[in-house]
Amino acid sequence: MLQGDIAVRRNRNAVICRGKSCLWSKSAEGWVPVPYTLSDNYTSEEKTLIQAAMEEVAVLTCVRFIPRHGEPSYLRIQPYDGCWSYVGRVGGAQDLSLMKSGCLHWGIIQHELLHSLGFQHEQCRSDRDKYIRINWGNISQDKERNFYKMSTQNLGVPYDYLSVLHYGKFAFASDAGKPTLEPTGNPHALIGQRVGLSCLDVAKINKLYECNICSYLLPDAHGAFSWESKKNPNITSCVWLIRVPEDKVFLQFESFSVRSSPDCSQASVTVYDGISRESPILIDKICGNIAPLAQISSGKFVRVAFTSSRIGSSFKATYSSLKCGGSLIRTTGNFSTPYFPSKYPNSMNCVWVLSAPAGYTITLHVAPFSLEPSPGCSYDYFLLRDGRREAKKCGHLPKLAFTSSTHSVIVHFHSDSSVQANGFFATYSFSPLSPRRRNDVQS
Ligand SMILES: [Zn+2]
Repeated sequence: MLQGDIAVRRNRNAVICRGKSCLWSKSAEGWVPVPYTLSDNYTSEEKTLIQAAMEEVAVLTCVRFIPRHGEPSYLRIQPYDGCWSYVGRVGGAQDLSLMKSGCLHWGIIQHELLHSLGFQHEQCRSDRDKYIRINWGNISQDKERNFYKMSTQNLGVPYDYLSVLHYGKFAFASDAGKPTLEPTGNPHALIGQRVGLSCLDVAKINKLYECNICSYLLPDAHGAFSWESKKNPNITSCVWLIRVPEDKVFLQFESFSVRSSPDCSQASVTVYDGISRESPILIDKICGNIAPLAQISSGKFVRVAFTSSRIGSSFKATYSSLKCGGSLIRTTGNFSTPYFPSKYPNSMNCVWVLSAPAGYTITLHVAPFSLEPSPGCSYDYFLLRDGRREAKKCGHLPKLAFTSSTHSVIVHFHSDSSVQANGFFATYSFSPLSPRRRNDVQS
């Protein structure tokens, strides 16, 4: 084993993989198929996890991991001892080990897959001395070779502390309390994450394989993204993959103008509740000038796909990571702060999107209601959005009652890092629009 988890063939220099000799080949259509087999020793859940981690690579690049159908060169993925891979395509059946205990984690699976595509560890890059200091004195005996600098192709992509291929600070340390690797450019940089691909990992794959793809990975707790056809006249499709650190994604379009056509056949946006095109659909093929309703996913991933055969479309969206909340589409129901009637936890963000059919209003009763009081509700708060109207509440109130003027209402609950209270319990119902309605929040 070189580099801890890189396998080397005796008769072949897999370390210096020059030119295209160890790349997987590209199809005429521009895809890079990488055939694989999965050991039957994996359970179906384990296989699903490995395939989902592969799918994230596929969504963002032109690499496609495909089940093997007799191809001579392929990845033979097996639960051997440890997590390891060869670097690049070796030819024939090429082992990639993902042991059941310790290797079946999203970022570790992708780390090994990236080796198999031809990538070395980030801290072994030829330009690493500008970014990282190696404490040779603290490296365990005989492990020094894991830190040798290599003659790598860096593809014009900046050094990436966040790469899933970067070792952590204490890798192979003889004194476990002292680092072996220290970021020098930015002493606070976190290194060694195994959450998943970084944006620059994606960029490297697309450079190495010369992928012609428009894709964006959004791996932060919150962010924004936008599209303007005018600025990208030659791009006819693009994909954004949101991957949040917490449980769910809250997605909202702030502006939306996608050229209308029958069945949205000339331009459209589709939003999926997951990574792949086979995931359930949150927003089905939409066009026009009306922004779709806000959405909450069931998991960490949301895929947003845009296609257009002509220019004249633009949109802007924001997203954030949620620990709680959800989409409420039944005629009646209820929701509450986490652990109600016990105290809610600190540092929570919950969002509930109540979506009635067009022509309906939403009635909301909140009682009891108890959030940390503060001037302007700047600490913990309940925030209700009904079209352009907003109501922000906190403190201890006997009840809140509200009837919407639109058919969709968004409720945010936020708690800061100190002072808890018992929270709130809300019931709601949808009813057909009546001529008289109350548009005010009463407390
Ligand atoms: Zn590795």
